[in-house]
Amino acid sequence: MTLENPTNLETPDKNYMAEAEAEAILALPVLPIPINISEHVSITSMTVCCPVCSTNLPPEDVRGSWQINNHTASMDGYGICYGCMSIGPLPTARYRADGTSLEQQPDGSWKEGRWLEEPTILGLIKDKFVEGFKKNLKL
Ligand SMILES: [Zn+2]
Repeated sequence: MTLENPTNLETPDKNYMAEAEAEAILALPVLPIPINISEHVSITSMTVCCPVCSTNLPPEDVRGSWQINNHTASMDGYGICYGCMSIGPLPTARYRADGTSLEQQPDGSWKEGRWLEEPTILGLIKDKFVEGFKKNLKL
């Protein structure tokens, strides 16, 4: 399956992504979930919502990879929406095993938050929900 004239989600109103760039994203592996941040803390699921048409993407249409360093997970991820033929990067973020997070805002600044509602208890496993791509990131 290929995307024709995929919209770049960062500028969905006007810009089309170059076909070569879209093909490179489509060739990426599915973003692995669950992912262990530390011995006792994992991200067990992730919901990615298309900012253009508000469809929740199936897991196989979320691509990319994780880097785990010092009990902190960061992802280099992309969402692909076949419903509205859009494609684009997920928010740049850091998810720490202590439940805190840093997510980059559209203006380039970083916002502290929590991806776990409660302070981490050893053995506790919770889900991470991404409520949109970079374009309409809300915390
Ligand atoms: Zn969409």
